[in-house]
Amino acid sequence: MFIPSFNARRSTPVLLFLFSVALILILLSFYYFAVPTGLLEVWNDYQEPQRHFNTDDPVSACFVILVRNSELDGIKSSIDQMEKTFNHKYNYPYVFLNDDDFSAEFIENTKSLGTAEKFYGKLDEQMWGYPKFINQSFAAERRKEMVETQVPYADSESYRHMCRFQSGFFFRHPLLDKYDYYWRIEPNVDFLCDIDYDVFKFMRNNGKKYAFTLTFVEFMKTIPSLWDTVLNFRREHPEIVSQFPPKEKSLWKFITDDDGESYNSCHFWTNFEIASLDLWRSSEYLKFFNYLDESGGFFYERWGDAPVHSIAAAMLLRKDEFHFFHDMGYRHTDVLHCPADEQVLQKCSCNHDSFVWDDYEKGSCLKQYNRALLD
Ligand code: GDP
Ligand code: MN
Repeated sequence: MFIPSFNARRSTPVLLFLFSVALILILLSFYYFAVPTGLLEVWNDYQEPQRHFNTDDPVSACFVILVRNSELDGIKSSIDQMEKTFNHKYNYPYVFLNDDDFSAEFIENTKSLGTAEKFYGKLDEQMWGYPKFINQSFAAERRKEMVETQVPYADSESYRHMCRFQSGFFFRHPLLDKYDYYWRIEPNVDFLCDIDYDVFKFMRNNGKKYAFTLTFVEFMKTIPSLWDTVLNFRREHPEIVSQFPPKEKSLWKFITDDDGESYNSCHFWTNFEIASLDLWRSSEYLKFFNYLDESGGFFYERWGDAPVHSIAAAMLLRKDEFHFFHDMGYRHTDVLHCPADEQVLQKCSCNHDSFVWDDYEKGSCLKQYNRALLD
């Protein structure tokens, strides 16, 4: 009788081949069955788009400044510093926006700052005014009530228009149509470090969509119903939420410590903001903004553009699309970020010791940001 003998030397390649095939089959089945296909499709949408540019291609970007005629000295000071520390090398244009007409004095005095182009625009009723669905006498009552809470700008009508404009409209002003990125600046702020690279190219070339220097906690009395409204939006619009990156790939944990139960009040301070205009022009953001707007909270409460932008960006973007410009010294009121890195500090006119809030040790929201990034 013929009994096939087991020849170890001859069988090894065959066994190896069979083992490899089995391994490939196992891996393939894992890929198809363990990852829900829906998730995979959504996630694929969020993969880095193919680059259509060379890293040296110019970026279409501008500074955007909402400002009043009365703030002329303050904005001159901010622009002087911006020119000195950065823009004399790059010459990005400035877009000035106002709910009023800019005065001849304002235009004349700002035109002569540096050599960059300047554009001046006025906001229309839609961008700075009450939408039809707002009950103005109810809004006035709510403002009066808010005075008792002693939050800043409790009774200010214009502040509310400003926050709504910055949340939902600045990026739709026709003067911004031709740009892809913006850097928001304000009167009376300081730019304290020399920046010797093109910040907008950095953003574009690295796929960054939202960048900041300061993080902060919100006065929760200005946004009592904001988070519930966000949750309602998420519940009522699964078709939009399904377009967001999965929570763990987003900055969800920057804004909530309890997986959405509550808002932890952390936000990026939007008086400094470098970002992609496409983020806000996206249909997802516009639907989100309209939903918030129609709930009335910009007027019946006092929702800030900082929590609105931050919550939206934390849901809409992937973690790797954010950037903390730790190398930029920046002061707004008494809140300062001054770089910790010794080498960077040599290009700055601030002391790291002199920071007030925003530091890895003390800034609780910056810690939260780092945790959310690394998580
Ligand atoms: P804060 O930083 O929250 O204290 O608010 P600001 O008073 O600095 O206002 C934020 C930005 O909006 C600044 O650039 C202001 O110049 C601008 N701003 C605020 N209110 C008005 C307004 O009524 N009209 C115009 N044109 N600009 C405003
Ligand atoms: Mn300000």
